Amino acid sequence: MMPVFTEHFGNASSIHWFGQQAKTMIDDARSKVAKLINAETSEIVFLSGGTEADNLAIRGIAESQKSRGKHIITSQIEHHAVMHTCKDLEKQGYEVTWIPVSRDGLVDPGNIQRALRPDSILISIMHANNEIGTIQPIEEIGAIAEAADVYFHSDGVQSTGKIPVDVRRLKVDMYSISGHKIHGPKGAGALFIRKGTILKPLMTGGGHERNRRSGTENVAGIVGLGEAARLARLGLSTEMPRVEALRNRLEAGLKARIEMIHVNGEDAPRLPNTSNIMVDFAEGEGLVISLDLKGVAVSTGSACSSGSLEPSHVLTAIGKTPDEAHGSLRLSLSALTTEEDIDYVIHVLPGIVERLRELSPYYKKV
Ligand SMILES: *Cc1c(COP(=O)(O)O)cnc(C)c1O
Repeated sequence: MMPVFTEHFGNASSIHWFGQQAKTMIDDARSKVAKLINAETSEIVFLSGGTEADNLAIRGIAESQKSRGKHIITSQIEHHAVMHTCKDLEKQGYEVTWIPVSRDGLVDPGNIQRALRPDSILISIMHANNEIGTIQPIEEIGAIAEAADVYFHSDGVQSTGKIPVDVRRLKVDMYSISGHKIHGPKGAGALFIRKGTILKPLMTGGGHERNRRSGTENVAGIVGLGEAARLARLGLSTEMPRVEALRNRLEAGLKARIEMIHVNGEDAPRLPNTSNIMVDFAEGEGLVISLDLKGVAVSTGSACSSGSLEPSHVLTAIGKTPDEAHGSLRLSLSALTTEEDIDYVIHVLPGIVERLRELSPYYKKV
């Protein structure tokens, strides 16, 4: 990205060599992103991140298909970018079916099949959940969507780069990607849009990105996203098995040293890098703050962005009470996590839990 900030100032839409240089860099990034998910380069649209990708997919289809119908199917555990977009569409007169999940955090494809109606226009089900890491049966849902001739969007922000993704095999029409979830820059993302998909753009303007997303391209962000995609693809077979082993070491180590903890979604297929741990009789905010003081950055089962104390809709959907949701910790690993990092958490967390439980009026040591 540095040469783009310091030397290559061209606008990729300009005809002169300066602009064409920028265009070449964007083309290169586009092939890298396409290769990561087995798409064609013409099917990758660059935009500002996962949130915009989800908005473009859902609003774009809702708007383009409204003469056909106004029924959308999604799950109860989607990221806010999907959930709040669907809620907004409900206010605009669309009908949304919110598919529940099992206690393991999985959508049953049979429930999608049963929710389909003649006026259904879109199914949006995330590939992997951002809080508990559970991986949804996207291929089966894709087959259902194809048979019913209904557009299928999947939020792939968490799964991209963590597990192999093949948009052809998954039969998705749209797939969201975000740069900063794969060690790329914030504010850069992509939406895979299958050839022939009819969707109304969110932005009107100069017709960039094959008319899918107007606005002068964020060349540095796109270059960073492309390189992150290339590295993520290489790491799928090397880094991710290592990360998964570390995650398992973390969970086993904590279970051995702390009583009354559970791993949410443990029995479901899960991402290699995510661990959501429920600690009975300990308060999540307290755990987060105590770990922060020890230099460990984690989050809890209460909504993060607003700093509010609403229990997580994901943990509520898998059947947790608000108290249980507040006592849940999300620990995320990455390609940069080391064994020392893991052992450090296994070393410091038991003492923190012990101290917080002493403060709990309900906790009696067994
Ligand atoms: C982070 C995230 C998003 C939003 O992506 P941004 O690039 O931060 O806008 C959307 N969906 C999921 C599943 C995410 O984890």
